[in-house]
Amino acid sequence: MNSRLRLEEVSDPAVLSAMDAVPREEFVPGQLREMAYADRALPIMCGQTISQPAVVAYMTEQLRLTAASRVLEIGTGSGYQAAVLAEIAREVYSVERIPELARTATDRLARLGYDNVRVREGDGGLGWPEAAPFDAIIVTAAAAVIPPALLAQLGAGGRMIVPVGGPNDAQVLVRLERRLGDEIVREYLWPVRFVPLICG
Ligand code: SAH
Repeated sequence: MNSRLRLEEVSDPAVLSAMDAVPREEFVPGQLREMAYADRALPIMCGQTISQPAVVAYMTEQLRLTAASRVLEIGTGSGYQAAVLAEIAREVYSVERIPELARTATDRLARLGYDNVRVREGDGGLGWPEAAPFDAIIVTAAAAVIPPALLAQLGAGGRMIVPVGGPNDAQVLVRLERRLGDEIVREYLWPVRFVPLICG
């Protein structure tokens, strides 16, 4: 997930204070704690990665969250991005396909007091239909194709941010917005590098 993105790209005060509030060292493996505040991606369990803080902040800002927002995250991983979302939004729903990661993140978020986050194990490509529609959707693994179920669960006026591209291709962060009349507007933002979204 190395990217040319820098934290200076981010100006939303709510996002910056959320980044300050979440203790990133709690989300990285013990032996990497000293590197928790470096602006780089770090390995977590099960061959996955926790994104570079600048990428987390930038993706969060693109969602234009308010204190009333209900957010869906795909790819809980360590739970770090979910915690950043939970600092700003009302409710966060996060789906993780690897049971061990889902379990660890659930315990960690509870221990840190994030009681507005719900984590569940499953295929995030299917979203979380019972809790839809969402004001914002963030996918933290690269999708070869944007899963149609996620688009369907994006509410009117909703924003989605998703890295698009295969594991060995160039990937780009895409922002989608569902405008009035159901028109979906897409914007291509930054080149990025994410682990793959594995569906099915
Ligand atoms: N947001 C995380 C980092 C995510 S790394 C954090 O802040 O730490 C990407 C995660 O997506 C990995 O944990 C991987 O297991 C998960 N993932 C990949 N495909 C998925 C799918 N179809 N559904 C749910 N999670 C998926």
